[in-house]
Amino acid sequence: MAKGYDENQQQKARLNFLGKDLVRRSRAKCELCEADGVKLTVFEVPPESDPATADRCLFLCETCREQIENPKRMDADHWRCLNNAVWSEVPAVQVISARMLKRLSKEHWAKELLEQAYFSEEVDAWIAAAE
Ligand SMILES: [Zn+2]
Repeated sequence: MAKGYDENQQQKARLNFLGKDLVRRSRAKCELCEADGVKLTVFEVPPESDPATADRCLFLCETCREQIENPKRMDADHWRCLNNAVWSEVPAVQVISARMLKRLSKEHWAKELLEQAYFSEEVDAWIAAAE
């Protein structure tokens, strides 16, 4: 367990310097569900890059982050926020939106939304690069 904790701390330190850029881009709201006035943390969209860049990271609330990291805890209703997020101009937001919609594909609305969404070739490749 100690090892996991250390890795977690290292991971945080590695990404913390991006916080300023992300606050600006997100206007201090969760970039997926637009939650306001909540704690936001830097989430790196897999696969990791070295060094990490703001382009490949998102500023997320705890609810979004926890459900991305723990598929078993998914609450489909929370992800209605993807109705907006999938149209974001930020590629990293598009990538996570598409991946979450795939996970939710048993939900009729999610399947439909994924069919409607359009991604550039580059974003498509990124979506496929890690599930
Ligand atoms: Zn959120």
